Amino acid sequence: MLDKRIALLGSTGSIGTQSLEVCEKHNIRVTALSAHKNVKLMEEQARKFKPLTVCMTDEKAYTSLKQSLADTDIKVVYGSDSLCEIAQSDDSDTILNSVVGIAGLKPTMACLKASKTLALANKESLVTGGKLVTDTAAKYGAEILPVDSEHSAIFQCLEGRDKSELESIILTASGGPFFGKTEEELKNVTVQQALKHPNWSMGAKITIDSATLMNKGLELIEAVWLFDRPASDIQIVVHRESVVHSAVELKDGSVIAQLGVPDMKIPIQLALTYPKRLECDVKRLKLADYGKLTFFEADEKTFKCLAACRRAIDMGGLYPCIANGANEKAVELFLDGKIGFTQIGELVSGSLDINFNKPDYTLDDVFEADRLAREFVSQNAGRI
Ligand code: NDP
Ligand code: MG
Repeated sequence: MLDKRIALLGSTGSIGTQSLEVCEKHNIRVTALSAHKNVKLMEEQARKFKPLTVCMTDEKAYTSLKQSLADTDIKVVYGSDSLCEIAQSDDSDTILNSVVGIAGLKPTMACLKASKTLALANKESLVTGGKLVTDTAAKYGAEILPVDSEHSAIFQCLEGRDKSELESIILTASGGPFFGKTEEELKNVTVQQALKHPNWSMGAKITIDSATLMNKGLELIEAVWLFDRPASDIQIVVHRESVVHSAVELKDGSVIAQLGVPDMKIPIQLALTYPKRLECDVKRLKLADYGKLTFFEADEKTFKCLAACRRAIDMGGLYPCIANGANEKAVELFLDGKIGFTQIGELVSGSLDINFNKPDYTLDDVFEADRLAREFVSQNAGRI
């Protein structure tokens, strides 16, 4: 048994359920679980893993789960504040944050303030909180271990190296289901088409983000904060096979990459067992089966979200948070059939015209920027 006690936030999602498979395989103690609404799956997980605490962030779901688990000793709690209490509690030493969206930011901050290890899937925490998150990690000596496959790859390539040896980062992108399409062709994309990713099976929001390339924009910003490099040092390369998970270029021109089959179990497991490498239930990489690996420039003209994220990080302050908030709202409207696919990019780009210049910001400012961005999208959804 590994000497770790994990609290798993967002345990009913795509990353959450795969994380529990890793915990089961390696007999890792899970002390807390959280979800938003999915009572049925949470009850199953709670009965199987017997955590001390489970949290639901939806009130009805909380009431219903409390009844369902009444015959157990498991403590059932409700809401965002309870999620932060779980992130801070001495019951665990590592938090795996796989909540989706800005809802992950407060538990991220709570975990770091408690000087705990954060296995971070929730990229929106770093995109919205930016410097607040990295400063808090540094101040409290908390470690952030990336779960996102690209960032895990970069982290692995940089292991044991001096920061000064790094020349640039090569962030790979699958290109999503609409690689090579023109803007005109993208106008009629349906929700079903956008929800089909060629290489990865993920939650709905990140699947749409992968189709618009917003995901790569968010990852660019995530890399800026995680690896403390300007966006201009990060090249984005479309790599359709998703075998090279990312790479780093060193000062001497040498490029080191991390490869593997596209399976999130590998980066999830590494973040949970780090620094140990253990047996993992994934297909093995057979390069000859691929024959060739391809690489292309990303089309930032057609996929406006990516260009908007680049602009947002260059503008600085809370503009990445504004781009993220606009995207979260626009994706919600797209999934509800209220706006077209290409409007997501237009709304995210448009949100950068909001006047909210804050080079130094507090957590309250972050949530205000998020609110303004969502308001912008609600007001302009039909118009842009
Ligand atoms: P899912 O949508 O599959 O799961 C999200 C989880 O968060 C669920 O447990 C959900 O509960 C919970 N949740 C939803 N809304 C809230 C809320 N308001 N407050 C608290 N919890 C909430 O997402 P994924 O697992 O795909 O992604 C999770 C995060 O990991 C995202 O930030 C994503 O960008 C990132 N990521 C995901 C990858 C993947 O392969 N899926 C790869 C790399 C990064 P419920 O089920 O009850 O709704
Ligand atoms: Mg990724």
